[in-house]
Amino acid sequence: MNTVPTKPFRFTFAGLETEYRAVLGAGYEFMTCADFVRRKARLPVRTVVNRVDIDYSVARAERLGEIFGRLGIKATFFVRLHAREYNPLSFENYRIIRALADAGHEIGYHSEIVDCAAIWGEPAEDCLRRDIDLMNRAFGIRIQGVASHGGMTGLNNLDFWADRRPDEFGLLYEAYDRQPGFNLMQEGFYVSDSEWTRWKCYDRGRLVEGDRRSFAEHAADGHPLIYLLIHSDTYFDRHFYE
Ligand SMILES: [Zn+2]
Repeated sequence: MNTVPTKPFRFTFAGLETEYRAVLGAGYEFMTCADFVRRKARLPVRTVVNRVDIDYSVARAERLGEIFGRLGIKATFFVRLHAREYNPLSFENYRIIRALADAGHEIGYHSEIVDCAAIWGEPAEDCLRRDIDLMNRAFGIRIQGVASHGGMTGLNNLDFWADRRPDEFGLLYEAYDRQPGFNLMQEGFYVSDSEWTRWKCYDRGRLVEGDRRSFAEHAADGHPLIYLLIHSDTYFDRHFYE
């Protein structure tokens, strides 16, 4: 007899909410990336820095915001400006991003400035300053942090930061910043859904080969500082293609 699993897919919104509830139950406090910088000298005993990259779907980010609202936690949502896949100022997307900011979430810039510089022949610094200005004005916010998007150009947007500091641009942090004021990747336990159908993790900056345990399974180990990166695009109600 053939058996079909009743719950074949792992990355459902409901499953993710269950993960978050388990981690809250394990005594973790969630915070944004900017709050991590501000509170780094006196962090809670168990901390999760809650990061969401919006690579493709703002609509799915709204669903994550609803989950966080039910749980009473905050996140940093990183928004792209130049994506082919979404316009952050479309009627729906502006409404959603504004609502996330109004709910107390941090909106960060998901940077593609190395790609911009290569495609447009403009200095990357100018692209960054303009993009920060645009986001501040468009959403009535003050961008405090940047996370570099990994796209399809073959260039690495993180390379921009090899010889520059976030404070040169009025920022608190870059999301992979190694300065002592951030240094989260090196000091924390990083769990990410960036492979879409499975989790991966890095222990203080080093990939843990073959460890596909979920965010909540890692939290059960009691890591004092977890850097969680999820992508809105990864989650669905019934299946990925809905
Ligand atoms: Zn991205």
